[in-house]
Amino acid sequence: KNNMSSKIQIVRTISDLRSKISYWRKNRLSIGLVPTMGALHDGHFSLVKRSINTTDKTVVTLFVNPKQFGQNDDLTIYPRDEVGDIAALDAQGVDLLFIPSLEEMYPTDFATEISVPVIGDVMEGVFRPGFFVGVATVVAKLLIQSLPDKAFFGEKDLQQLYVIKKMVIDLDMPVEIIGCPIIRELDGLAFSSRNVYLSADERARAVELYKVLNEIAESAMNGEQIPILVEKAEKRLIGSGFTKIDYLAVCNTHNFKEIDYLEAPTYALGAVWLGETRLIDNIQIC
Ligand code: AMP
Repeated sequence: KNNMSSKIQIVRTISDLRSKISYWRKNRLSIGLVPTMGALHDGHFSLVKRSINTTDKTVVTLFVNPKQFGQNDDLTIYPRDEVGDIAALDAQGVDLLFIPSLEEMYPTDFATEISVPVIGDVMEGVFRPGFFVGVATVVAKLLIQSLPDKAFFGEKDLQQLYVIKKMVIDLDMPVEIIGCPIIRELDGLAFSSRNVYLSADERARAVELYKVLNEIAESAMNGEQIPILVEKAEKRLIGSGFTKIDYLAVCNTHNFKEIDYLEAPTYALGAVWLGETRLIDNIQIC
């Protein structure tokens, strides 16, 4: 693809989205979908690149989904940069950008909710009640609206990726869900739209989460007892200025229940607070 000559198309209604995509489908082109909430960074762009490399037409969605924010969450201050996002996606060679309004996605009488119990009830599900229902509902809508062959999600939100995989299997949605590796800043902090909330001092401390997850993985592989090494890691986080730990745990991806033994695929996961900012991250242990 010649990025210089690319011209992204923007649609804001479901019917315009459908007519563009059905034209491509009729011409037997494969469709890749990358759902985002905007304020795009290199993590998002890695999903976009993967889609462009593996499908004929790439559709990105930009929608800050209120249903996945709780009462005390950061919905009103969530970073938004529509103009910057459009320019960046155009430069990447994205074919179509869907930017629906709130009313387009959720008319006032909107009622349906999709919940994925068990896998969605632990970890993030405990600390962000309603979060996975909000995510599953909006992702189901986006998948049905665009009917892609493949949809791309980051392992940064590992539990979310598996909740979506489960939903797609349970609802017989004919789409392949592709998990993509976490993209990190130079020091190791995972890219996140929320990183802009961090003060300079918090930003410097933030990388400690990644370091602690690595330490957990290394010690666990060396045979150290998991509950003991997790406790050590929590102390280290608090010692480096983290203000609250929602969870720091070793989990498998079958059900995201905390485990004290290693059985692949197993991950170290953390959700921690630096002042007003909540950071999540994970790394695979085995
Ligand atoms: P968001 O806009 O935060 O809802 O994220 C949109 C998609 O980008 C989700 O599938 C995320 O998992 C993914 N994503 C966010 N940050 C990263 C990252 N640092 N590396 C890889 N994927 C990411």
